[in-house]
Amino acid sequence: MSEHDGIDDKDDSAETLFERIIAREVPADIVYETDTTIAFRDISPQAATHVLVVPKTRYRDVAELAAADPRLLADVVTTAARVAELEGLGGGYRVVFNTGADAGQTVFHVHVHLLGGEQLGSFGR
Ligand code: 5GP
Repeated sequence: MSEHDGIDDKDDSAETLFERIIAREVPADIVYETDTTIAFRDISPQAATHVLVVPKTRYRDVAELAAADPRLLADVVTTAARVAELEGLGGGYRVVFNTGADAGQTVFHVHVHLLGGEQLGSFGR
């Protein structure tokens, strides 16, 4: 972003919070990392275990990631499964990709929420 661009929510070139976490510019409780993905605890957990898994290459959402790099999408899901194992979620877990504003996506760098560690409620509205 050049100094003339000003603030624009639709400016996809602006660095996201997750890129700053990947670069270790913002601290996070990192639980697992691979060459292509990073997993860290959500700052506002919605379940006993709530970990975010993020590809190190940025795509806006899961649809963009799937279209551009299906192997990287598989890496994200595989990392989530590995973290579930490490976190002892043998009884089951949920993975959620919030996609777009109506779903509550706030960080436009694709990420999966890994939720578990207790009996989860229903979801939807
Ligand atoms: P989204 O709403 O985009 O699906 O998910 C973004 C998630 O990032 C939210 O669950 C929110 O709690 C989490 N989050 C926001 N800021 C931070 C932060 O600074 N550190 C961590 N670890 N998580 C954050």
